[in-house]
Amino acid sequence: GQKFTSKSGILELMEDLEQAASGKENLCMLGGGNPAHLEAVTRRVRTRMETLLSNGNDFEKMLVYYDTPKGSALFCGGVAELLQENYGWQLSEKNVAVVNSSQLAFFYLLNMFSGTYPDGTRKRILFPLCPEYIGYADQALDEAAFCTRRSTIELIDDHIFKYHVDFTALNLDDSIGGICVSRPTNPTGNVLTDEEVNRLGRIAEERDIPLFIDGAYGLPFPGIVFEEAAPFWNENTILSLSLSKLGLPATRTGIIVAREDIIQAIASMNAIISLSSGSIGQTLTLELIRSGEILTLSRDIIQPFYREKSRVTIDIIHETFHGIDYAVHRSEGAFFLWIWFRDLRVTTKELYNCLKKRNVLVIPGEYFFYGLEEPWEHQDQCIRLNFAQPEDVVRKGIAIIAEEMIGLKQNS
Ligand code: PLP
Repeated sequence: GQKFTSKSGILELMEDLEQAASGKENLCMLGGGNPAHLEAVTRRVRTRMETLLSNGNDFEKMLVYYDTPKGSALFCGGVAELLQENYGWQLSEKNVAVVNSSQLAFFYLLNMFSGTYPDGTRKRILFPLCPEYIGYADQALDEAAFCTRRSTIELIDDHIFKYHVDFTALNLDDSIGGICVSRPTNPTGNVLTDEEVNRLGRIAEERDIPLFIDGAYGLPFPGIVFEEAAPFWNENTILSLSLSKLGLPATRTGIIVAREDIIQAIASMNAIISLSSGSIGQTLTLELIRSGEILTLSRDIIQPFYREKSRVTIDIIHETFHGIDYAVHRSEGAFFLWIWFRDLRVTTKELYNCLKKRNVLVIPGEYFFYGLEEPWEHQDQCIRLNFAQPEDVVRKGIAIIAEEMIGLKQNS
């Protein structure tokens, strides 16, 4: 009880979402992880709903049965076929499970591969590219189940940088039960290169532990990736996908692609914790998956939309941040910008509070640096902005951030 009610980053983030949802006027919502409303996506889903409503009792069938704990065979089979046809991965329906959100998928996976094992050994999950997704930070049931490694920082120019995995410092010992990365990474918008992913895959395979790839924003769908990058899966990889960042977060549908025995284990865990998963997201997107349209929508609508938003937001930052010592992580995917204020004199939480008083919500960077063995001054110098909101909101929020930063500089 204590663990899940003490203040955590993700709780704060969700409270901010509540504020935003309450329609507070003049609020610049640059926090949270809500995707944009993309009409090209919702229109397709609306059409599917209309078909369900007009076809006999298809609509009722969607609602009146519990699904199996693994997810519908039709949906899982559709996902397997899509991935096999497009990427040559050897998959069947038995390699796919559906759970109620990819957030829940990670609760299952991270706990399945960490904590106290039957032989008494204690296992941990390694996050090799810190900063990493805030939503993992509090998910482990066991204490000290997570460890992370500092990324190295490549300075691309005065105002752009990029993180890389520091392979010289990974130091995997027998306590590591799995390696986990989000690709693209939330919060930074980093996309691990194919070489980095392949290398992590080999390391995991040599140690006979899984590599988890969280593809919530990534490949193959919703495909919010702005660099050349290939989707990655093999028998040793657990790939997590989601319908959320396609623009359908309310469907709470997470998809796991993995070896059959792991899928079986997920289904068992899902039966105990959820009985079964919701059918609505699966039913509404089944045709998009079976026809492959989910991939064309991702490539032709979703990715270009966010790529353009990213470009515009970075331009606004460069125009607005005169006199501020800042660098933005290269925007390679997802819909966040990660800004590093190298001479920040207050904590990122304090900066967050100053901005909140002025109706600008961001996410303080310090929450994304969990599991480090030693503190890192960089953890007190970054914030995350969501640029999925309309341009005028983003522009106004960035102007207020600039004013606050200048104010802080003058006061120090
Ligand atoms: N993984 C990452 C990296 C995320 O950013 C999010 C949500 O923001 C999730 C997983 C969870 O997504 P959902 O539970 O909506 O599928």
